[in-house]
Order: sequence, then structure tokens, then C-alpha cells
Amino acid sequence: MTVRTRFAPSPTGFLHVGSARTALYAWLYARKHDGKFIVRIEDTDKGREVEGAIGHMMESLKWLGIQWDESIDVGGPYEPYIQSSRLDSYRSYALRLIDAGFAYPDPYTEEEVEAFRKTAEEEKRPFLFRDHRPETTGAWDGSQPLRFKVPTIKRFEWEDAVMGTLSAGEEALDDFILIKGDGYPTYNFAHVIDDIEMKITHVMRGQEFVSSTPKFLSLYEALNEVPPVFVTLPPILGDGGNKKLSKRDGAKDILDYRREGYLPETLVNFLALLGWSPGGDQEFFTPFGLIEAFDISRIQRSGAQFDEDKLKHLNREHMRLLSDQEYISRGQLHATDDVRLFKAVPLLKERSYTFAEAREMLEGELSCLFRSPELSADQLKAKEPAERADLTKEALEGVLGLLEGLPAQLPAEAVKMALMPYADSQEALLKGGRGAVLWPTRYALSGSERSPDPFTLISILGIEEASSRIRAALAIL
Ligand code: GLU
Repeated sequence: MTVRTRFAPSPTGFLHVGSARTALYAWLYARKHDGKFIVRIEDTDKGREVEGAIGHMMESLKWLGIQWDESIDVGGPYEPYIQSSRLDSYRSYALRLIDAGFAYPDPYTEEEVEAFRKTAEEEKRPFLFRDHRPETTGAWDGSQPLRFKVPTIKRFEWEDAVMGTLSAGEEALDDFILIKGDGYPTYNFAHVIDDIEMKITHVMRGQEFVSSTPKFLSLYEALNEVPPVFVTLPPILGDGGNKKLSKRDGAKDILDYRREGYLPETLVNFLALLGWSPGGDQEFFTPFGLIEAFDISRIQRSGAQFDEDKLKHLNREHMRLLSDQEYISRGQLHATDDVRLFKAVPLLKERSYTFAEAREMLEGELSCLFRSPELSADQLKAKEPAERADLTKEALEGVLGLLEGLPAQLPAEAVKMALMPYADSQEALLKGGRGAVLWPTRYALSGSERSPDPFTLISILGIEEASSRIRAALAIL
């Protein structure tokens, strides 16, 4: 049997963390078993449809690298993959159910149904449509809602690949609507028909569908079809507690993570761990590694904690794995000097958790790598003891002298070896501490209190630029 999984979004908004995880698990499982992953659009609720949602969701999946084998754009053996174009199929199943005596047109007006509901409420019993099944009905002309006539009211027991044995009783069963008055099928009906027609073997979705499962099962029974394996995913809980995931915590548009400079492979890694674990301590996974390791038997039942810090740390790990060239291109990093930008990547890799942070750093703390700083004489002399008014000047002259003897480009370690003995000797000699040399040097190069150390700066700027900045500093003293 070929594994066939599907992701079946309704185009009512964007792809958020929860739906992206559902898609990911279905995709991982299909890839792991050399199966097929299908994206099917469930657009039967026209009132809730949001323009542009389909394109936005598909772009999000593409960005994550969750590639489908069958869908609206690439087609496939069971097309069309959008429910509004499958109305004939639902109709033919509906007629089959009518013929078998398992469906009937709803003869009531909205007011009549409302009256039934009210009476049930007054009598303190649940309102069930099946209590009002008409004795006889006319033929279905498509203008009335078509209702399912639940064949047997009984307790259902079923196996869920994650939750184990589940059961629900009569209360979950009612004569639900199969096809609405507007000609569109309900979700309850359409998704079952599509899953049958598209030969779906495993259905991954959230816990909110568990309570309706007896409805689906009784429909499978009436149609004499075998239901797929149900794989119920745990809820995602917000940071630090039992509350549901809030917008701030990450129930936001997946593409926002792209804007904030997260890598798609980080999101895939992070989402995979939201409700699944490999069994060991390993947390870092490439998408390929996940396909290897993924297994539905290790999906947890209890809620999964959304942890933003973990997301950031994983992102830094994935960013660090990129070559320096990839880091620049995937991070869309730009600067006026490509050579210096390239040399700054190790610093960025160390300090940034997202590409947005890396970009900010290039504009802020590291902007001195690309433009000469504006210097203040007071700051330059900030570490100078009052009794040694010429100390800064002497220190910068000393450093300048040493730089002149060095090759044009060298690594920070080599710069450090060349300058450190001088800074240390001055410490004893001038009693200003190492800082008496290192501070003005760093400030002369960066014009800022916060910057990388002077050796790193010199190494990135090159000896010529570093010397010229020190000369500029000396000129204002
Ligand atoms: N269209 C449904 C939703 O977006 C799909 C549920 C399912 O996977 O069956 O919630």
C-alpha cells in the first residue's frame, strides 16, 4: 500500500504555526515511506473565504520546503484538488446515499428547526435532528439541504495512531447536513468523500476533530468504505503555561518568520519538535534528517510547548551551518564593501539569532566596518588618568608604529600577537592599564563604545584603513 497523506487547508487566512505543523507531519510521513503528499483546498464555506489565502498558504509551504506531489497547480490522478470544483463528485455520492436510504432532503424551514431547538432547550435535553426525522420526504431537488440518515445509533470505538483506542457514543451522532441549500457540501461530508476518492491512507489533524469522528465513521460505514488511519496531533500551548498559543507566541503568519530573518529549515526543525521527539537528546535536525528520524509512534499526546527561545537558538545553529557566502545571500545582507562584509560573517554568526538581527548589527554595532567613525576627543581620552594628559596620544602613536610594520591583511589573532605585548608593556610603564592602549585604539577605529575588539576591527578593516583612522584620531587630540 502506498502511503498517501494530505494537508487540507480552508482558505480562510494565512498558514500559522499549528497548520504548518500539520502539513509538515503529513509531508514527513509521506516522504519517509516513499508515499505521496497531497494539498487539497477545502473551500466549501464561501462566506469565510479570504481572498489571496490559497496563494499565501502555498507560498508558505513552498518557503518551508514542504513540496506536494498532487495539488491544484501540479494536478494529479485525482484532480481537481479544490472542493468547489468537485461538486459533481459529492452529488454522485449523495445520490448513492439517497438510493441506499441513508440520506433525505431536509423538509423544514429555519423557523421550524429553531422551534425544535427551543423545545429541546426548555425540556433540558440535547437537540438532535434525528429526533425529527420526517416519515416521508419528497425527492431531493438540490434546493433543500440534504441530511445524512445515520444508519445505526451506536457507540463507536476506533484506534488513533497517537491517542490509542478512542470511543464516543450516541450523543456524537446526528443527521448532519451533507449538502447545503447552496449546493455546497459540508466539511463533514466533503472531506470524507475526498479522502476516499484520493485514496488517503493517513489523516493528520488536530484534536478538535476527535469529537466528530463518530460522524465520519458512520458515513464510512454507510458507504461501505474503510476509513484511513487517524493521526491526532497534540495542541500547541503558548510560552510558559497551559494557555493556547497566542498571537504573540507564534500563532502568527509563517511568512512573518521569513520577514524576521528565520531560515525555513529552522522552522521545519522547530515545528517537527512541537509534539514529536526522536527519543534521544538530539534537537538539531536538517529536513533530510527529520525524514529519516520521523515516526508517528513518537508523536506525543499531551500539549506541546511553544518556546520562542528555543526557536531562536535553533535558528542560530542553522545559520551557522551555512557557508559565509550562503549566509550573506540567504540573509540578504548588503554593505558598501563586499570584502569587509565577508570578513564580518564570523562575527555575525556568533552574535545574531536571526538575519533581521544580523542586518541590524550591520547598521549599528558593525556599521564602523563600512564608514569612518566620527570621533570625540573626550571619548578618545576617556581612560586617560588626569596626571598623564599625553597618554592617549602616546598609545595611539605606539600602535600606529606597530601597524606600519605589518602586512596589509592579517587575521585577528596575528594582530593581537603584534599589539598585545605593547599594550601589556605600557600597563607597567604608564600605569594606565592595558585599557590605556586598547580603549583609544578601539574607539579610534569604531567611534563607538560597543564594537568588536580592536584586533578584530583591524583585521577586517585592513592595515591601511586602520592606520588612517588612527591618524585621524591623532589629528583631533
Ligand atoms: N479544512 C479543514 C481545516 O482547515 C481540514 C481538517 C482536516 O484535516 O480534515 O481545518
